[in-house]
Amino acid sequence: MAEAGMVIVGAGEAGTRAAFALRERGYTGPVSLIGAERHLPYERPPLSKDAMALAGAGMKAIADAGRFEQAGIRLVLSAAAISIDRAAREVKLESGVSLGYEKLLLATGARPRRLAMAENSRRCVYLRTHDDAEVIRAHLRPGARIAVIGGGFIGLELAAAARMLGCAVTVIETEKRLLTRAVPAEIAAVLHEAHAKSGVDLRCGAAVTAIVDHGDGVSIALADGASIDADACIVGIGAIPNTDLAERAGLAVENGVRVDERMATSDPHIFAAGDCCSFPLGVYAGRRVRLEAWRNAQDQGNLAARNMLGRQENFAAIPWFWSDQFDLSLQIAGLVDEGVETVRREAGEGAFILFHLAADGRLVAASGIGQGNAVARDIRLAEMLIAKKARPPRDKLAAADTKLKALLAA
Ligand code: FAD
Ligand code: NAP
Repeated sequence: MAEAGMVIVGAGEAGTRAAFALRERGYTGPVSLIGAERHLPYERPPLSKDAMALAGAGMKAIADAGRFEQAGIRLVLSAAAISIDRAAREVKLESGVSLGYEKLLLATGARPRRLAMAENSRRCVYLRTHDDAEVIRAHLRPGARIAVIGGGFIGLELAAAARMLGCAVTVIETEKRLLTRAVPAEIAAVLHEAHAKSGVDLRCGAAVTAIVDHGDGVSIALADGASIDADACIVGIGAIPNTDLAERAGLAVENGVRVDERMATSDPHIFAAGDCCSFPLGVYAGRRVRLEAWRNAQDQGNLAARNMLGRQENFAAIPWFWSDQFDLSLQIAGLVDEGVETVRREAGEGAFILFHLAADGRLVAASGIGQGNAVARDIRLAEMLIAKKARPPRDKLAAADTKLKALLAA
């Protein structure tokens, strides 16, 4: 009988990384990477950034077809997995084909949260895939009126791209400020100013009460009585983990597919990684989180592959992500909400870093914003300090002339 091998469901960031990691770790059996989308696996971050504005919908393949072939990874595209038979260790695809597995990785990612009021309008669009990006790009003509519901990452990055393309942009956010969830107010304020300066009409604390599609445009009614007319409306109100497959298979699900520190689900033959799973973060006393970030998907894809091969390694990475808007780049390492106190360090030319400390003085997160790479190096060093559970003196953190590298060595 043919060897069952490794099967990965979800040909995105985590799944693709895991497939290559299996080979890098010397696995020689069959590796199948199943993807519901029709494209070769591609990077999502460019879909909402400059590339969206400058180079069409920003397609950047993670690897070309030749690399998959060379690595002996069987890519099965346009193929959604619809069920898992855990007893028989088989995954069934929409086409009716079943694939046996020795170990299975779920890397099914997340999908946009839908807004019920927007369901009846084709002018209301979401962004998750390259195909979505192409639809949005077609709306971003110079002079087009673009409404954006949600002042999160999708909303703000696309608002910046739309301004670069000469659109008139209005952002509607229910909260009193932008980026309430993961970004400190001081940093969100810098982005608010940049958007306002570039001409984006920002409406914070504004609730949408109705969306009417007139055929040639939409009218968006707000609770304060205002109405916004737009040619298209981009909805970016968060993401929901794709857990249907896991739920139907009876796997534990808790804000995503529940995995342990090794990325194993409640079935030892099935692992999960990336946006679709929740996991305990060792560095924060095992706090269970689900992250929606590019590097996390890569780290977890790598780790899951190693553990699928029998290693017993725990996830130890520090959360990290970035966002680019106009000429500004923000980076955050660690979980900001673990901090109770903030120390600010200036990083030149308006750039700054906030160090977030726990009650006992431990550095638990660092967030920074500036032009280009202004904060990248210090955030990287802060990440190492967080991993070390360091308690750097507050005055040294604040002093721009104290090198973080020195604090790391201390
Ligand atoms: P995904 O990349 O979503 O891949 C999951 C894949 O699984 C999808 O292709 C999906 O079609 C497939 N799939 C799902 N169910 C099935 C099934 N049943 N059968 C077969 N296939 C299935 N992060 C950052 O840190 N910085 C950024 O600047 C940034 N920018 C982003 C911009 C955009 C527009 C988006 C959408 C995300 C961005 N992210 C960013 C987040 C980052 O891209 C994600 O965290 C990352 O892609 C998650 O990888 P993943 O493999 O878990 O999921
Ligand atoms: P997000 O960052 O969670 O932001 C969603 C925003 O919409 C939040 O500010 C949210 O406010 C608001 N919101 C929720 N419901 C609303 C409503 N009914 N009306 C108006 N506003 C509402 O999610 P996203 O921007 O949609 O991004 C989706 C996914 O893409 C995520 O996985 C994200 O990580 C990823 N992405 C990441 C980046 C990056 O890291 N640079 C860039 C682009 C996309 P509340 O907090 O109050 O709910």
